[in-house]
Parts: sequence; C-alpha cells; structure tokens
Amino acid sequence: MLSQRDFDIIIVGAGPAGLTAGLYAARSKLNVVCFEKLAPGGEILNTEYVEDYPGFELVGGQELAQKFADHAMKFGLKIEMEEVTEVRKDGEDFVVKTGEGEYRCGAVIYTPGGYPRKLEIPGEKEYAGKGVSYCALCDGAFFQDEVITVVGGGNSAVEEGQFLTKYGTKVYLIHRRDRFRAHAILVDKLKANPKAEIILDHVAEEVVGDGKEMKKLRIRNAKTGKTKELDASGLFVFIGFIPNTDLIKDPVEKDEGGFILTDQNMQSSVPGLFVAGDCRSQLIRQITNAVGDATTAAVAAEKYLEAQAEAKKRGKEAVAAS
Ligand code: NAP
Repeated sequence: MLSQRDFDIIIVGAGPAGLTAGLYAARSKLNVVCFEKLAPGGEILNTEYVEDYPGFELVGGQELAQKFADHAMKFGLKIEMEEVTEVRKDGEDFVVKTGEGEYRCGAVIYTPGGYPRKLEIPGEKEYAGKGVSYCALCDGAFFQDEVITVVGGGNSAVEEGQFLTKYGTKVYLIHRRDRFRAHAILVDKLKANPKAEIILDHVAEEVVGDGKEMKKLRIRNAKTGKTKELDASGLFVFIGFIPNTDLIKDPVEKDEGGFILTDQNMQSSVPGLFVAGDCRSQLIRQITNAVGDATTAAVAAEKYLEAQAEAKKRGKEAVAAS
C-alpha cells in the first residue's frame, strides 16, 4: 500500500513560475506547497526594474515579486522556507526531501531556476566579493564613482551594464564576438550612453588585484591575441545561466545546455514531473513565458492527478469484480 501523501503537488522554487503554478493549483483547491530556500521572487529580486511585463509599464523587481507571492498566498498557497535537496519518484508518488524533512506528493512542479555561469579565469574566484560580482542590483552601489567592467553579450549584460552607469564613472562592456545576442534596442541605448564603452571581439583573461581587491581586468583580442589591461575595480559577469537540475534524482531528458525538455503540457520525461521557468528548455527566459508555462504546468498536473486517481479507482473496481 502507498504511504499517505502529504500534498497533492509540491512546487520547488518560488520564482515567478513557482508562484504562478502555486496560484493556479491553490485556486483549484489542491493541497499544494511551494518550497523556497531564500525569498519568494527568484531572479526578479535581482532586477531593479521590469518594464516588459504586460500591464506594468515600469515596476520594481522586488515589488513585482511581492505582488506574485501575495497573490498566490491569497488563494491559499503555502510558501515554506525550506531548501529542497532531492526530488525522486517512488512508485506513483514523488518524495521531496528538504533540509527539514521528507514529503510525499502525487506530482511535482519543478521551478528552481538556475545560477550564473562563471568565466573560470584566474582571479575570478579570488576576487569574488572583492570586485567580481554576478548581480548588479546587489553590488552596483559599491562601485560609486569607480570604473566598472561588464562581460557578456546577452540581454543581461547589456541591461545590467546600462544600470551600472548609474554608479560607475565609466562602464566597459566586453563581448567576445562582434555581434550581440541582446535585443538591438538595448544595445542602441547602451551605445548612446556617454558613460558606456563597448569593446567587441575581446575575452576577459585575468582579474588582477593586490591580494585585497581587484585593480585591473586583463582582456585579450580574440582575433589578434593582443592583450591589454583596463584599470577597473569592478567586474560584473553576465554570460548565461546554468539550470538547477541536480535535485532531480531520476534520469530526466535534457537539451545540450542541460535544460530540461518537456512536452507541450510542461511534463518532463518523468511522468508527473512538470517543469517551468528558467530550468526548462526553451527559446527565451522571460517572466512572461515563465508564468504562462507555469499556468500550463499547474493545470496539466491537476489533470495528471485526476487521471491517476481515476486509474486507481478503476483498478480497485476491477479487483473487486474479479
Ligand atoms: P545569454 O542570452 O545566453 O547570453 C550570454 C552571453 O554571454 C552571450 O553573449 C555569450 O556570447 C556570452 N558568453 C557565454 N559564455 C561566455 C564566456 N565563457 N566568456 C565570454 N562570454 C560568454 O544569457 P543572458 O544575457 O543571461 O540572458 C538569459 C536569458 O534571459 C535570455 O533569454 C535573455 O533574453 C533573457 N533576458 C531578457 C531580458 C529582457 O528582455 N529584458 C533581460 C535579461 C535576460 P555569445 O553571444 O558569443 O555566445
């Protein structure tokens, strides 16, 4: 006999995807909990302003995060500050382990996002927190009137580079190619900023410091191999994102970047394991598609549980009739 389930659905991670899935599941009167290790909001907590979420022309990232959490809780979502350490299937149930305990549920909506990719260059680790950062909103103010370098060519690098011009006397944006992945509108805005200077076809080679803090960034021309040093006390790295998929202990299909593959119902190759948000394989990672996919995941998870219950009932009836 199966052990008693603690929840119908467990949601892993309280970013926009997790909170949206929670809102829909709780509103459907399911017994649902959302586990989060830090604070509800996920990546938007690291974003100063959001201006591409429909209905909100300009909203603070933290404010939007709070609105998502309040809205979901209003419909009865329980958000627990427990760090999930393991998700595994056990028969028809899932077992979700946290730092506090072990819980059984019928379906999991997996939305823990990911973490920033590192450059893996000399000095990066040594000067982390002493010049090297991965979060402009968290650390930008420490570089008031200083020279800042930013590495990356995607939307994050360009947007955060723009944001850092609030603080730095100069912001160098260093990108390894001559074409940006970032939206042209963002690149044009940065180009027009007199405090910003874009350095193309260069890679960061070493963070140089005095043992206490960063003093320079050595960069190398990817075409000529020539190196030069930029006098800068800050390096902000925005070169992509590693999805948080390690908590899943069952073999699950992923793309070449390590993002989890799902079907159109957001179900992964593990039946009952639904995935939305930044750790799902998709074209873009935006709040808008995270919340849309999370809606699908919540509705699909409910249907999955209904089908499971129905199959169990039919199985019991068949045994009783035999
Ligand atoms: P991204 O779009 O994957 O861009 C990563 C950038 O880092 C690329 O330009 C890449 O260069 C570069 N890069 C990767 N590894 C590198 C290395 N080892 N050394 C130097 N450069 C390296 O990542 P992202 O900017 O974090 O954005 C992630 C997702 O969030 C995207 O879908 C993005 O559109 C979205 N986002 C959207 C907004 C917005 O629309 N407002 C804001 C932020 C993020 P190559 O181009 O040469 O590969």
